[in-house]
Amino acid sequence: MAVLALDIGATKFAAGIVDPHYRVHEVRRAAAASADPWAVCRDLLVAVAGDNEVSAIGIGSAGPVDVPTGVISPLNLRAWRGGFAIVDQVRTLFPDAAVRLAIDGACLVLAEHRVGGLRGVDNGLALTVSSGVGGGIIADGRVVVGRTGNAGHLGHLVVPGDDTACPCGGFGCVEAVASGMSSVRWARARGWAGESGVELAAAAHRGDPIPLAAMARAGTALGQGISSAAALLDVDRVVIGGGFAQSGEPLWGPLRAAVARHSRLEFIGELSVELSTLSEGATLIGAGVLAVEAASG
Ligand SMILES: [Zn+2]
Repeated sequence: MAVLALDIGATKFAAGIVDPHYRVHEVRRAAAASADPWAVCRDLLVAVAGDNEVSAIGIGSAGPVDVPTGVISPLNLRAWRGGFAIVDQVRTLFPDAAVRLAIDGACLVLAEHRVGGLRGVDNGLALTVSSGVGGGIIADGRVVVGRTGNAGHLGHLVVPGDDTACPCGGFGCVEAVASGMSSVRWARARGWAGESGVELAAAAHRGDPIPLAAMARAGTALGQGISSAAALLDVDRVVIGGGFAQSGEPLWGPLRAAVARHSRLEFIGELSVELSTLSEGATLIGAGVLAVEAASG
């Protein structure tokens, strides 16, 4: 019997077989086709399953999701913006399997809690900072899911003093200020000529003032958002993954300074904020946790 994990990202899909220790094997990846994303998911799942009988499938999806109905409508997947019944479709494909769905941020925090930097932590946050900013929450030892499964959207906490339009339709969100994409856009609007978050980080490390300022702006917004969430939820550890989080001191210096400046209440005074040790595949691992736990009842 095989246990499968499926990660539905905004631009990439991945699937694999999960073992009881939450390691994911035989991972296959594909670009998220804009015309027929389901065909891509189906082919990945069928290829990964091979001749195995499938007992459980965990799905981690970019949000928004509606977990009670099993419908997803990821912001960056135009074909599914009207809502796609992913759980029903997967059940049609594997009628005997238990199917579980969670938003990617919840999968991320599950992965950190079982095999990453939040092991043994009952109250913590996991963030991913890449082209967007996402996250998940562990409170009192449990993943916070919320009414529709969308709890943990840490990227849409509002930071002070910035009114940049956010992909969510709002203004001044952490994601609007601190994502890799937003930071690149901000630097380009001030005359920097590079194009990616990786280039931006490299230029900041060389001391180029515009990239340095873009990183400081992003790091400060992240630190402010983290401090707000930490005070709200009484957490003691935060782990941050994602490509843009690998930007090093130009991002992390201002981030830590903002956390120190804003986390002044005694109960969050020792707040630890660290870089995730999990690879890019953390959402897939978290989807695997969902599946393994569904398979074991
Ligand atoms: Zn927003």
